[in-house]
Amino acid sequence: MKVLKFGGTSVANANNISLVKKIVSSHNEPCVVTVSALGGVTDLLLQTAALAAAQDTSYKETLEAIETRYFDAAKALIPVTAQSGVLAHIKKELNVLETLLEGAFLIGEITPKLSDKIVGYGELLSSYLICQYFISEGLDAKYADSRKLIVTDDQHGKAQVDFEATQAQCDAFFKDYNVVLAPGFIAATAQGTATTLGRGGSDYSAAIYAAALNAEILEIWTDVSGMYTANPRVVKQARAIPHISYEEAMELSHFGAKVLYPPTIQPVLQKKIPIVIKNTFAPEEAGTLISENTNGNGKTVRGISHIDGIALLSLEGPGMIGIPGVSMKFFQILSQADISVVMITQASSEHSICVGISESMAQKAEQVINEAFAHEISLNQIEPVKVETQLAIIALVGDNMKHHQGLSGRMFRTLGQNNVNIRAIAQGASEKNISAVIRKEDVKKALNALHERFFEENIKQLNLFVMGVGNVGGKFLNQIKQQQSYLRENLKLNVRVIGIANSRTMTFNEEGIDLNQWEADLAAGAKADQGSFFEKIQTLNLRNSIFVDNTASAAVSESYQNYLKNSISVVTCNKIACSADYGNYAELKSLAKKYNAPFLFETNVGAGLPIIDTLKNLIASGDRVRKIQAVLSGSLNFVFNNFNDGITFQEVVQQAMDQGYTEPDPKIDLSGVDVMRKILILARESGHQMELDDIENRSFLPQEALDTTNNADFFASLEKNEAHFQQLFSAAQNENSRLKYVAEFVDGKTNVGLQHIPQGHDFYNLEGSDNIVLFFTDRYPEQPLIVKGAGAGADVTASGIFADIIRIGNF
Ligand code: ADP
Ligand code: ASP
Ligand code: MG
Repeated sequence: MKVLKFGGTSVANANNISLVKKIVSSHNEPCVVTVSALGGVTDLLLQTAALAAAQDTSYKETLEAIETRYFDAAKALIPVTAQSGVLAHIKKELNVLETLLEGAFLIGEITPKLSDKIVGYGELLSSYLICQYFISEGLDAKYADSRKLIVTDDQHGKAQVDFEATQAQCDAFFKDYNVVLAPGFIAATAQGTATTLGRGGSDYSAAIYAAALNAEILEIWTDVSGMYTANPRVVKQARAIPHISYEEAMELSHFGAKVLYPPTIQPVLQKKIPIVIKNTFAPEEAGTLISENTNGNGKTVRGISHIDGIALLSLEGPGMIGIPGVSMKFFQILSQADISVVMITQASSEHSICVGISESMAQKAEQVINEAFAHEISLNQIEPVKVETQLAIIALVGDNMKHHQGLSGRMFRTLGQNNVNIRAIAQGASEKNISAVIRKEDVKKALNALHERFFEENIKQLNLFVMGVGNVGGKFLNQIKQQQSYLRENLKLNVRVIGIANSRTMTFNEEGIDLNQWEADLAAGAKADQGSFFEKIQTLNLRNSIFVDNTASAAVSESYQNYLKNSISVVTCNKIACSADYGNYAELKSLAKKYNAPFLFETNVGAGLPIIDTLKNLIASGDRVRKIQAVLSGSLNFVFNNFNDGITFQEVVQQAMDQGYTEPDPKIDLSGVDVMRKILILARESGHQMELDDIENRSFLPQEALDTTNNADFFASLEKNEAHFQQLFSAAQNENSRLKYVAEFVDGKTNVGLQHIPQGHDFYNLEGSDNIVLFFTDRYPEQPLIVKGAGAGADVTASGIFADIIRIGNF
């Protein structure tokens, strides 16, 4: 025979109950069916009781809501001819319940004993109704009153089972039967006083029946398809674990996997009865088998779970070493006050004890401990107990974890990389779990990051927050849209854009913005400012968060420190941060290291060309840069390649601007400032402490053009000085040379300026907007290492940013 248990959601309404019947009828053998209250009713009953005890007449309304739930279900399930009897029975029971509540209301108090009696009505009524429905559908069903079968002590709220007495009752009751319907959760003392088995206890009731009847299997039917690698409501990528051991299941449920009430395993474990967890709403799915001897598929970590609402108590003091039995007394006090210790987070060394308890008990714990140690506290031997709240425990669980070194290292590194602060750590003596206490608001991020680390080793999610959607930003978003599925399949990177902002509005979607319609979403977004963009990212608190700056704004570049300090990586094509004050540049690099958050700016030099990355690799592998010679301005290269005596200088600059080869302010390019910034960044990346002022700039622009303050004036002055530019051109031509704007870094000194480049030189044939960099190093002393290619334009810049994102993905 089998025991089947259906939880609250599975019996929440008439429709769900009809699914339950289908499942039960498909079992062609005797079975015991244990059911919960209709979903949510237990909470409603507790709420009703609390209102009555507080002498709040609104308890009548919640009672009515309960009544409606059962009446509605009964009317939908029971044929009209049989309805009146069933409705009358339910009404009769509800009248008794009402009388009990009236009692609580009159006295203005509720005892644990009365509470158990009241709260049991949820299961009493659901089991009665479902039994009647089964009979009306032609099933040979019989009712079993769990209060007469499961015998407990009188610890109301969570009574302890007397297995011997329960066995005797069951032996007597279960003789000839086909389908037996029994309420879960409720039981009674030997004297017949109603008790309950604790919240979520219907699973336990079913296990008690399974053990008493030596069932061949215990089936727990619920609203998810098994025991998952993590709570599927928090971790979207979680999957059902096909097969898991009793111990692992127990450990996971003890640490918060609500799908199984922790005591459930005990009775079936002794008799080696397997448990399967199945989904009432997807019965075709395999679910999870819990039994002895799992193979684990060689996996070490089988699941991750968490418990919210944890408080940490720490008792410390200089005098603790001298006082014998402090820790014994500490645990005794907690136990006498009925406060259970969820985890001991530190070996109770002699001068400090630290334990995790339920937050709801924190106040009481503080009081009883401080009272009990009042004498020691008054002598300054011990400090008053420290209480920290708003915490949670997360735990990695697996039988085979003990055979593997380095798991905790991986766990803590993953948490650290995501800026999850660990308050305390514990490893179960069995080594079947490693648990950590973290802040409540980090739970979602921590679970997802750990899940990714231990279960999705192949897929990594990157969460992007993009500021600036102009030329480059827009192209960048388009490239992501096109590559998203390729990246997932081939690089195992799930790149999602979670936030987008421009200078006016911003939009967010925690599930990833649909890149087919980001423009519309952004236009309809909230008013944007940098502070609220940052705050929103912080609140979302997603793992692997990356801030992408596609602006040219100094103010935005000033925000990088904040991002890095929160372990949010920064990718930027904005050169300001790396080319302004050296102290700030150095600080950003050190923050990136400290907080494990990459700070990447490949596009600062040569757009998408791998210039900085090449330089980094040279240096990391022990090489030393002696000299750099480069043409670093795609815009100036475009200008001088296209400038001749058939076109005016002003026209060429205008063309460069129209084609997206210049900064929004073209003077930044033409004056050489942009090139100065780039060579400065290369010098700094080569290990030199240098400022922009240290660079010699031989500008080719007339002073008048340099002094302009807007684009219109700038272009006007270019036009006015056409003769000057024509002269630059012909001077070069007369020498059979071409004009190139060259940046040089030699012997720790840097200069930029227009040069005549003769035929045969590496720079002579540089086309279009190309860039070229020659690295002369210890390893490349004569023949330089050359990087050459398209060095300007929105498309290549966007793909350079993209490359940085991929670098972070592989980090
Ligand atoms: P029932 O009413 O059927 O007893 P519960 O609500 O008690 O159902 O338990 C099922 C719920 O447990 C799921 O809906 C899910 O939210 C939660 N849960 C938490 N951790 C896990 C996990 N590791 N695997 C599956 N479910 C989990
Ligand atoms: N109805 C009870 C509860 O909500 C028992 C159960 O559903 O398992 O706690
Ligand atoms: Mg449950």
